[in-house]
Amino acid sequence: MSKATLRDEAPIFSLLNKSEKGDNISECLTCGVCSSRCSWYDGEGGPVPRQIVRMAQLGLDELLIESGMLWDCMLCNRCTEECPVGISMEQVVRRARSIKAAAHIVPEDLSKGIKNRLELGDVNALTKEEFVETVEWLSEELSDEMGDPEAIIPYDQKGTRFLYLPNPRELGINLLHLTAMARLFYLFKEPWTMSSRHTDVTNWGYFIGKDDICRKMALQIVEAAEELEADTLVLSECGHGYFVLKTLLEDLIGRKPRFNVVAMPELTLQMVENGVIELDPKTIDEPVAYHDPCNLGRKSGMYEIPRKLLSFCCKEVVDLTPNREHAICCGAGGGLVQDSNSVNRRMIAGKPKAEQIKAANVKHLATACLSCHRQLGELVKHDDLGVKVHTVVSLAVEALVTKNS
Ligand code: SF4
Ligand code: SF4
Repeated sequence: MSKATLRDEAPIFSLLNKSEKGDNISECLTCGVCSSRCSWYDGEGGPVPRQIVRMAQLGLDELLIESGMLWDCMLCNRCTEECPVGISMEQVVRRARSIKAAAHIVPEDLSKGIKNRLELGDVNALTKEEFVETVEWLSEELSDEMGDPEAIIPYDQKGTRFLYLPNPRELGINLLHLTAMARLFYLFKEPWTMSSRHTDVTNWGYFIGKDDICRKMALQIVEAAEELEADTLVLSECGHGYFVLKTLLEDLIGRKPRFNVVAMPELTLQMVENGVIELDPKTIDEPVAYHDPCNLGRKSGMYEIPRKLLSFCCKEVVDLTPNREHAICCGAGGGLVQDSNSVNRRMIAGKPKAEQIKAANVKHLATACLSCHRQLGELVKHDDLGVKVHTVVSLAVEALVTKNS
């Protein structure tokens, strides 16, 4: 009988066991707890985390790459939560995705988006001219809506209090979201701006596990923010964008940025608590369930802020079970939602989430990530759940008491 031998010189293994941050696969006890925690557990296909670690240990890189498990993993770290030796699946899978031999399995949409983002500042290849045209057109709409020529979407203004970094969807198929955020900034009554130099909160370099690309993308934002001398970078509702630009940023660029970073739900809540804006809790006169995005919750520790903001917009905030650090992924993390060929897989991966939503027996669901929002919207439609999906901040805009002051 042949003996299983650890192959620490194999490409994936050699990238691991280098830091104290959960990539210590040689310590794996093969207990399998991780596999029982994966939300794909009861679905067809999907990753088997214990197997991923074992294959990496044994140098079975080729088999692992061809298994499809690397790109089915949602980097949600739900399995990591209970690992007795603290192995972070997000670290292991990202490293495995980054090796040269895995280049051919990177989804085409991600490769294209990364190229666009590095060259043009936007994953959807929106040029600077198109950005300016879009923002100026939206400005006119906003001025008309607010009845105030001063109500505009400023860009490239130096020395403002806030620099808003949108999700790419806000400059494409979800322009209404950007207009809603601009309405909030107008009501915050503080100088703010957007930047035409780069237009996008995402970091797909994180998904492909390449730290050099992830760093370059983060630096595109850091340099633009510092050039504009913005006091605070305000991130659109984006889970992985927040994880990279808030939680990982200093490690990634090797220094402190010369600005603060806040997420839009955080800033909006501050404005409510400081009495700058007022929200009507009768806006939704029934319970709203909150979905914890993995990158915002389990991976960055933001649990209460979105719930608190939500509590100003509805009768009652209820939890899905399980929630917070035990929350189940929406089924679209890790780059899945960015891949246009992933719809079938996402509907399978999202089954446990759909079951949770059904069990909560609510008509409204909110989340603080536009990627989760998209997946949850598709999921409730696919499973005919009869639930309306909101983002927390767009609900706050709906709940504004005085929209025109
Ligand atoms: S839970 Fe941790 S120790 Fe157990 S099999 Fe999974 S990775 Fe290995
Ligand atoms: S999908 Fe989440 S729970 Fe499953 S292996 Fe990947 S990180 Fe772990």
